[in-house]
Amino acid sequence: MKVLVINCGSSSLKYQLFDMLNEKVMAKGLVERIGLSGSTLTHRFGEEKYVKKTEIPNHEKAVSLVFEGLTHPENGVLKAISEISAVGHRVLHAGEDFSDSILLSDDVMKSVKKNIELGPLHNPHNITGMEVCQHLLPNVPQVCVFDTAFHQSMPKKAWLYGIPYEYYQKYKIRKYGFHGTSHRYITEQAAKVLKKPVNELKIISCHLGNGSSIAAVNNGKCVDTTMGLTPLEGLMMGTRSGDLDPTVVTLLMKKEGWSCDETNDFLNKKCGVLGVSGVSSDFRDVETAANEGNERAKLALDKFTYIVKKYIGAYMAVLNGADALVFTAGVGENSASMRAEICKGMDYLGIKINEGKNSVRGIEGDIADDSAKVRVLVIPTNEELMIARDTYNIVNAKK
Ligand code: AMP
Repeated sequence: MKVLVINCGSSSLKYQLFDMLNEKVMAKGLVERIGLSGSTLTHRFGEEKYVKKTEIPNHEKAVSLVFEGLTHPENGVLKAISEISAVGHRVLHAGEDFSDSILLSDDVMKSVKKNIELGPLHNPHNITGMEVCQHLLPNVPQVCVFDTAFHQSMPKKAWLYGIPYEYYQKYKIRKYGFHGTSHRYITEQAAKVLKKPVNELKIISCHLGNGSSIAAVNNGKCVDTTMGLTPLEGLMMGTRSGDLDPTVVTLLMKKEGWSCDETNDFLNKKCGVLGVSGVSSDFRDVETAANEGNERAKLALDKFTYIVKKYIGAYMAVLNGADALVFTAGVGENSASMRAEICKGMDYLGIKINEGKNSVRGIEGDIADDSAKVRVLVIPTNEELMIARDTYNIVNAKK
């Protein structure tokens, strides 16, 4: 069975085609600058790459180009698009409606539309992707896999904000959490690495990339996470501020005369590692600047690792210890120095990494010292595979 995974953004579309017989990626690619000048499709199959520069005015054209690439006589991997048995979509926000992935229906679509209010930057594009696929592949089942779903198991005390309860009731203002598909993949993979059932493990999953979040997972269920109503809360990130005293926001609005939209833009795009370092939002650039003696770059990295460490400590308390601390995503998978800095001075909590083992980059491994109580794992995340697995399982269960 062949499953196409689609992740639709405002001006981009990422895709991967899986053969679920062996969970192998048959082809993958990216359509960039949809609706803008200089649009391109980059299609990869095996070691080969095929780039097409053409006008791509909308997502319908983008999906058609993906199908064209997949069935191309020389570069394609399918004879016809009818070989695609199902499509899995990454969808950002399900509000409180879904705690699992689900087959797309009219009611599900209604719910995703209702939740645009909570995910205004992503849900509209996710909907476009689903509608285009429904139109181009009318008889192929489609599945929604939500970023928020995994966190629906959090207890109310973890997700309720300390504001009058009526605002939760009226507007559903609460913590939802994101990166759920990644945290779920990490949890399942950690259980495989540790050779233990997932429902017997306490895991702290650190997804550290341009966007970063941590989840505390008890027996396979998320009990707390750092992101909130939106992906702005929690850790300081590439360009997002993370936790702030809310007065910082109202004071800045007053002093600078910013509108709500300008303030949102500022908090999401100009803060974090970029804002503190004044160098870049890219951790590699900031590490380079710090190594060259740039004090603000050093401060940005110090601040980032400090907040990660602080939340790990908090989740150790929430879980009453942990079997494994897992690092994933761009920084978590690749930066030995950031992992070392985060884990430094945590031996009291049973966390101690082995310098030699920590030199791994982008591959799965246990980097903890043999003597340590807590295993420290590096696990490359694979949200697309998780989406493909959910899609496969849901579609087969309906047969
Ligand atoms: P992601 O959002 O998961 O794609 O992660 C992107 C972030 O990972 C960027 O800030 C990159 O600079 C960072 N990253 C990737 N490779 C490395 C590396 N070797 N060392 C430090 N940061 C890295």
